[in-house]
Amino acid sequence: MSQIDDLPPLREVIREHGLDARKSLGQNFLLDLNLTSRIARSAGDLKNMTVLEVGPGPGGLTRGLLAAGAKRVVAVEKDRRCLGALAEISDHYSGRLEIIEGDALKVALRDVAHGGPLKIVANLPYNVGTQLLVNWVACEDWPPEWSSLTLMFQKEVAERIVAKPGTKAYGRLGVLAGWRTEAKILFDVSPKAFTPPPKVTSSVVHLTPKAEPLACPLKALERVTAAAFGQRRKMLRASLKPLSADAESLIRQAGIEPTRRAEEIPVEGFIALAKTFAT
Ligand code: SAM
Repeated sequence: MSQIDDLPPLREVIREHGLDARKSLGQNFLLDLNLTSRIARSAGDLKNMTVLEVGPGPGGLTRGLLAAGAKRVVAVEKDRRCLGALAEISDHYSGRLEIIEGDALKVALRDVAHGGPLKIVANLPYNVGTQLLVNWVACEDWPPEWSSLTLMFQKEVAERIVAKPGTKAYGRLGVLAGWRTEAKILFDVSPKAFTPPPKVTSSVVHLTPKAEPLACPLKALERVTAAAFGQRRKMLRASLKPLSADAESLIRQAGIEPTRRAEEIPVEGFIALAKTFAT
């Protein structure tokens, strides 16, 4: 294990603070500080940044972010057992780490950013990871508070985020991310890197906000993609029936053939559908 700071190795931290991993909290810890430093560096320059980290756990990624030079890290952790270990990191890094005990789903980015630049970096708990991503991308105001998201997901979820039309992984997440962001998978992480090891491979995804995504009514986009991908094998004229008594003409008005299926429709097509549906 590399020496990125003078704090004890993570195995020792876990033992000392009794942080046996709990499945209910999605706890799969990264103990290799080489790897957590790599994830931190892949978020780009952190020097003048506030970084929001969701679920610091024993603090492996937190230490990577601080060692990489983040000006300020705000870490939101639901498991109060981790607070002692995190307080030791905060002391070591002269108060550059702020810890919020609570549920990341309830944290408003505005309160974290204080009007300054913000990046979000996290090895997300699998049980709330997708919801957090949707909240951050489907926010009311654009551009968002964050300038990048560097997030670890299960590989299968990562593939859905970056998916393009015509692929099996393409769905609601791909449309949302494709509409407002540039999203790419940076690298995969083997289950062996985690304690305890999960059943599946993970991937680090990097998203940056598009400066000027097409205008689109958010709620309508959610309704249309939910209906279309809820029955993805059906033609749109059938899958969108619950949205409109005259689904066929709604689809035609959006410039799309009603016999097409959700999987074949590019992001711009869904935006056209959402606009037509909203009017
Ligand atoms: N960042 C650590 C690492 O990489 O080793 C831990 C990652 S672990 C996959 C997810 C962490 O998120 C756990 O520490 C868990 O307690 C925390 N967590 C789970 N649900 C949460 C929530 N709703 N809000 C904040 N933290 C949460």
